[in-house]
Amino acid sequence: MDTHNATLLVVRAAHFAAQKHVDQRRKGESAEPYFNHVADVAAHLAEATGGGDAALIAAGYLHDTVEDQDVTPAELAAQFGHDVADLVAEVTDDKSLPKLERKRLQIEHAAHASLRAKMLKLADKCSNLNAILTSPPPDWPTQRRLAYFDWALAVVAGCRGVNPQLEARFDALYARRGELTAGG
Ligand code: ZN
Repeated sequence: MDTHNATLLVVRAAHFAAQKHVDQRRKGESAEPYFNHVADVAAHLAEATGGGDAALIAAGYLHDTVEDQDVTPAELAAQFGHDVADLVAEVTDDKSLPKLERKRLQIEHAAHASLRAKMLKLADKCSNLNAILTSPPPDWPTQRRLAYFDWALAVVAGCRGVNPQLEARFDALYARRGELTAGG
């Protein structure tokens, strides 16, 4: 992909995600716009890959549009190409399954995902752990916050060895797990 096309792809993906998530907020106490989460994931991916993989950065912006906003994989493929659509598909849960089963499958699927989907998962879990640390969902008791950390660690176990920077970022966030029980 030449530089012009790469720039267009990333900007269009960001724009599309901003439109799709316009009414969605994060669950945390500060109720940030959901777009901040996908921008966070895209930025982690851009930094961790030195900006060298535009399709992966675009997928970072788009990774929750199918799961949360009923965008179809075909729509993503038509607008952003199959590479981007396939990356998003790899990190999209099957919402017809019960929540516990989806969570179990994420652990199982992570180990078999493509290298780039593993990076996307790592970046997503980094963003979510950071959100729980900095703006925890008020209706999540401490136990649920801890359980999320531990589940994320299990998912990330299948994503190791693909990107040291993302892995180190995740481990640094996970290391702050004790703050969840520190009463503050
Ligand atoms: Zn996400």
